[in-house]
Amino acid sequence: MVQRLQLVDALIEKYSDLPPEAIFKEDLLRTGISFSEDALRVASGFKPKSYFIFSFDLVPIAHMQRQENLRAPEEICLVGGPRNFRRTIVSVRLNPRSPYRVDISDQADLVLTLEEEELSGIQFEKTPEYYQRTLASGKPITDIAPTIEWGYLLYLTVFRICQYFGHQQECQFCDINENYRQQKKTGRSYTGIKTVEEILEALEVVNDADSESQAYTVTGGSITSQLNGMREIDFYVQYPEAIEKRFPGRWIAKVVVQALPREEVRRFRDVGVQIYHPNYEVWDRRLFEIICAGKNRCIGRDEWIRRILDAAEVLGPSCVIPNFVAGIEMARPCGFETVDEAVASTSEGLDFFMSQGITPRFTTWCPEPLSILGKLNPEGAPLEYHVRLLRAWRDTHEKYELDAPPGYGKPGIGNAVFSVSSFMDVIRRIPDELGQD
Ligand code: SF4
Repeated sequence: MVQRLQLVDALIEKYSDLPPEAIFKEDLLRTGISFSEDALRVASGFKPKSYFIFSFDLVPIAHMQRQENLRAPEEICLVGGPRNFRRTIVSVRLNPRSPYRVDISDQADLVLTLEEEELSGIQFEKTPEYYQRTLASGKPITDIAPTIEWGYLLYLTVFRICQYFGHQQECQFCDINENYRQQKKTGRSYTGIKTVEEILEALEVVNDADSESQAYTVTGGSITSQLNGMREIDFYVQYPEAIEKRFPGRWIAKVVVQALPREEVRRFRDVGVQIYHPNYEVWDRRLFEIICAGKNRCIGRDEWIRRILDAAEVLGPSCVIPNFVAGIEMARPCGFETVDEAVASTSEGLDFFMSQGITPRFTTWCPEPLSILGKLNPEGAPLEYHVRLLRAWRDTHEKYELDAPPGYGKPGIGNAVFSVSSFMDVIRRIPDELGQD
């Protein structure tokens, strides 16, 4: 049997124009990470996983025997070690059966191993001081306003449920509602609908104590009818509106919601939102219709794309950054059967958007077992797909001479902090050349 390390090393050799760290990062994201008991004990003193929106785990919490959900860190930093890794930030997706393991070496250092061979050193992020605080109601800040991306991004999931759930409604890769249920079951403070007042109270604390966060994202599940008597735009716009009134320009303001009509995007812009993520999830028409059946029925693929282009006219193309979930186009039973077909399809979408100055970004698919596709595809997509997609993204980005997407911090290997895929790690031009320092 060919061992995993041999496979990864073969890809590193074959795609030698990509940073090896990014290839390992993609494999860690699609496979998940296990922790030794000693490493978990150390991790307990650092910034914990907050479950900021989805589970992003390869096993349900009910199957975690050592309470990893409460003890594991939000992210790890790969650095140094026998392969001399440049600093690479990776989101922690728990998988007790993963061949990747965070452990303590004989020299008492934290290390990442693959099949017991040491790959790199590991650092955990210190717990921000404000993580110890609570709101007046007793709710922890980690529920209301956690940070990810090594402290760069405040992640404000103001509605932890999606109204697309039900027969042929939900996006088939998504476990938002199931995750909400499992978190509530564990007794974690996990607020379904956060009030504007809660968000402002939490941000007061963050603003007083924290100087590292540079941006915030307001997001949550889709609202197909009404929530608290409000339509989707009315519900979501109230958060950036209140934040920008209270803390004008303190953070880069981003929202992740459905593709909305032009006049509704203007409302976001007018309250101070700078960056908009109308996520199209998968490019191929047939797969969008199957995998995102609810979105397809309510809005439709053509209209979704038209709205992305309209939003680019409102906010500027570089500030419209639609996400796709890299790998779901290879998911059984309906996905492409070959890496060639999958990469060709997704590259077509990249070219379509990037040729118009819009830079899609992607999240590496985590086949969560509480989602429809995760159940059917526990192995996710092949690593070679992810590696080739990284190359396609970088090459198309370079072909159209686009800048690094704003709102993600510094680009490039050793600098990037975006933790759920490697697109920022593979940007080759350094920040000085982009005038972004
Ligand atoms: S719209 Fe789709 S991806 Fe977004 S929360 Fe709902 S089901 Fe999940």
